[in-house]
Amino acid sequence: MHDVIVAGAGPVGLFTANELALAGCSVLVLERDQDPHPPLKELPLGLRGLNAGSAETFYRRGLLQAAMKASGADPQKVGAEPEAVEAPDPRELSHFAGMTLDAADVDTAVLPYRLPSPAMEGFMTSLDAVTTVLAEQASALGVEIVRDAPVTAVGQDDESVVVTAGGQQYRAQYLVGCDGGRSAVRQLAGFDFVGTDPLFTGYVAKVTFADPDRLPMGFNLTETGMFLRTPLEGHLGMMDFDGGTFDRSKPLTREHLQSVLRRVSGTDVTLDEVHLASGFTDRAMQVTTYRNGRVLLAGDAAHIHSPLGGQGLNLGIGDAMNLGWKLAATLHGTAPEGLLDTYTTERHPIGAAILDWSRAQVATMDPGPNAPALRRLVHDLLRTTDGTTHVYRRTSGLFHHYDLGESHPLVGSSGPDFCFEDGTRLGELLQTGHGVVLDFTADQALRPTAQQWQGRIQYATGPVRNSLGFTALLVRPDGVVAWAREHVPPPAEFENAAARWFGAMNR
Ligand SMILES: Cc1cc2nc3c(=O)[nH]c(=O)nc-3n(C[C@H](O)[C@H](O)[C@H](O)COP(=O)(O)OP(=O)(O)OC[C@H]3O[C@@H](n4cnc5c(N)ncnc54)[C@H](O)[C@@H]3O)c2cc1C
Repeated sequence: MHDVIVAGAGPVGLFTANELALAGCSVLVLERDQDPHPPLKELPLGLRGLNAGSAETFYRRGLLQAAMKASGADPQKVGAEPEAVEAPDPRELSHFAGMTLDAADVDTAVLPYRLPSPAMEGFMTSLDAVTTVLAEQASALGVEIVRDAPVTAVGQDDESVVVTAGGQQYRAQYLVGCDGGRSAVRQLAGFDFVGTDPLFTGYVAKVTFADPDRLPMGFNLTETGMFLRTPLEGHLGMMDFDGGTFDRSKPLTREHLQSVLRRVSGTDVTLDEVHLASGFTDRAMQVTTYRNGRVLLAGDAAHIHSPLGGQGLNLGIGDAMNLGWKLAATLHGTAPEGLLDTYTTERHPIGAAILDWSRAQVATMDPGPNAPALRRLVHDLLRTTDGTTHVYRRTSGLFHHYDLGESHPLVGSSGPDFCFEDGTRLGELLQTGHGVVLDFTADQALRPTAQQWQGRIQYATGPVRNSLGFTALLVRPDGVVAWAREHVPPPAEFENAAARWFGAMNR
């Protein structure tokens, strides 16, 4: 029997499996598809790929350089010296409903806790690049992957879960469903999935145009929908406000795509050939809880929404990073009471906010009579510093905040990449998958107490390049600050924080 079965070897399933294996759990991944490299996965992920928050997550597991290389990133950016970068300045910005923003308009004064890091910005990628890097890590960590094994039945009792896949039965202590937007695990384990119906059918395709000059490049909003052309040859995106009624189980023919393109572009453009195509909608749904007994969900299995603004994978990677260490601690018997349920309480609101973000974009793009007025209003707001800064906060993935019941604004947020004088960074310390206590006090006040959590929390001390005024911080394995002090703290304060997140001390 394995500790955990993960359903789905997509990016979120592999990331989750690797987190668990890094923490010493035995993991079996059951994947529906035989081929790990289907051609559709090679299409670039929208306009944005992974955001800075996901880049930071990959960095904290030692995967950033490999992921950037696999994604074809500019080699000069791979492993660039972070101190060469103007500290907290954002270097990439998203768009809102196709309205782009200028990074120079972000007010960095409202973002006081950023330090230079190798992960200051996101990068364009594809599902294939991400899953290839994660599958290599899975193999190094001893994760077992069975392909051609679609999950078709799930049962659970007080002790274990039983999963049927590819005609075989598998047993484990927990099951994590990472099997995508049409998740079988979600249905079989009886999760409630609620939200809003779609307004459009969207398409991404790689095509050959007979007359490419008829279609302008970029994001083109029209009276009937939207079409997008990127500099990548033959890449096309479209939104057709048909109420999401197109039957996506049908093959996407050249004739259908051409007729949609003609309608949304208002041209008589011709498609010579369709090489690859996939459809989606803006249906926005989320499970009401991410855990049902011994079954948990992560990624698109837990939430779906339109890809506008490119947030889905980022959200799923965040789920995996949040869940892995908590489930591992639960399996090892070290987790404090209720730790596993904080997965839902922390991640559900982040997912709900992203669903709303995508709904708001659809509302401003709707071809109805009121959307143009809304669009003009949003456009004006985006030309202000506050507006641009707000979008940066919402889309960069660096500023998600969990309410951990502590008043310091950094607690519940991603830890700044503190760098010791010897060059060791917080992000590198986190690569072990353990928590980290950063003790910047002159006499190493927390050392004896921190040693009581050896094996779960690493102790790091020494002169630091920029402490941002902190004397001590406790950082969870997912990089989130659990406790922070700006005065020399009594060790008992640290002890309470450590016990709250890492359980009873070693005796
Ligand atoms: C056009 C488009 C552009 C996008 N652009 C971006 C972007 O720029 N940035 C971003 O962050 N997100 C983007 N997304 C969203 C992103 O692709 C998804 O959120 C992401 O792929 C979700 O990962 P996942 O692992 O949860 O699910 P998936 O990638 O769907 O993986 C699920 C895996 O489970 C397997 N599976 C399915 N059923 C079963 C079963 N019964 N048993 C076992 N295995 C099963 C599947 O074969 C698959 O391998 C985009 C999406 C689209 C459609």
